[in-house]
Amino acid sequence: MISFTIFATSMKEIIKELKHLIDSKSKKKIVITTHKSPDGDAIGSSLAIYHLLNKIDHTVHLITPNDYASSLHWLPGNNNVIIYDEQIENANKITKDADIILMLDFNNINRIGDFADTIANSSAVKVLIDHHEDPSNNLADIMISKPQCSSTAELLYEVIDNMSMTQYLDKDIAECLYVGIMTDTGSFKYPSTTERTHEIVSKLIKYGANNSKIHDLIYDNSSENRIKLLGYCLNNKLLVYPENNSAIISLNANELKKFNFQKGDTEGFVNYCLSIKDIKFAAFVAEKDGIVKLSLRSKGDIRVNDIAKKNFNGGGHINAAGGVSQLSVNDTIKELEKIINNLNK
Ligand code: 5GP
Ligand code: MN
Repeated sequence: MISFTIFATSMKEIIKELKHLIDSKSKKKIVITTHKSPDGDAIGSSLAIYHLLNKIDHTVHLITPNDYASSLHWLPGNNNVIIYDEQIENANKITKDADIILMLDFNNINRIGDFADTIANSSAVKVLIDHHEDPSNNLADIMISKPQCSSTAELLYEVIDNMSMTQYLDKDIAECLYVGIMTDTGSFKYPSTTERTHEIVSKLIKYGANNSKIHDLIYDNSSENRIKLLGYCLNNKLLVYPENNSAIISLNANELKKFNFQKGDTEGFVNYCLSIKDIKFAAFVAEKDGIVKLSLRSKGDIRVNDIAKKNFNGGGHINAAGGVSQLSVNDTIKELEKIINNLNK
């Protein structure tokens, strides 16, 4: 069978280097890491490569900067994940001893929070596999960056395929990759979803991924509080600016407390703004752990990653980005209103 390729010759050479690194007979100590507050793609792709490298008999640790939504805790291998901010000393020691560090689903070292120093100071061979635009120069020794890919999980499948390592794929790896692709494509609806995405997903189902079960575990697994918080946002907190095709939802710390907010509870709220007819720009602002965090989304050619970078020390993709604000929630909304007013200019 001729294997599909999305990679230019230069990228194939880079992937060969990765294959050489992980396919050699010598057992390596490998650390995998991903961005802060990891989402389905970050955890899914990290656990997928974790399982694959374990099968090749390397010593593998997955270290995330912090914990993540409980809707992702069912993923195979979750119990072996080391949370950096809960085990700083242990995580630093493991990382200092590592031969290889794999970095997934981020393009800038500041995305891994306090874990950044340990990673930056490590002498391990660093490998980046990521789908965000403009990765920082010299972030890794082997940089596999493909912004055209819907998700890091989709890119990782391509890398595994290109390394002729699909024989290692099994139900666990397929389910992890499926979670990554499904969550980053908004359940296969964003324009980043291609024929190839569906082709890969069909292969993952053949390897045993239970697509319906996964959908259920991720999306139909909300607490009552989360749904009530969503109702509160839609009824009381939705600001719509029809003349600017924009909408904002915001929550302050007291409101989150009232609904017993748990990590992941507001995931996807921003998309309700975009589901309103003619809305092309959406923002969700929330005060979490004393920090005002923003999620930005758009349709078409409004580049929310640029907006996040310029105004909120953030970044992301053209249509999905995030950042932080130094202002209060209310002042952040005022700032967003200025941005919204300039969108069509
Ligand atoms: P979300 O809004 O779901 O948290 O994030 C959407 C996208 O923006 C993701 O691709 C994520 O990697 C990126 N992103 C979110 N927050 C930040 C941030 O603070 N800094 C940067 N550079 N990217 C972010
Ligand atoms: Mn991603």
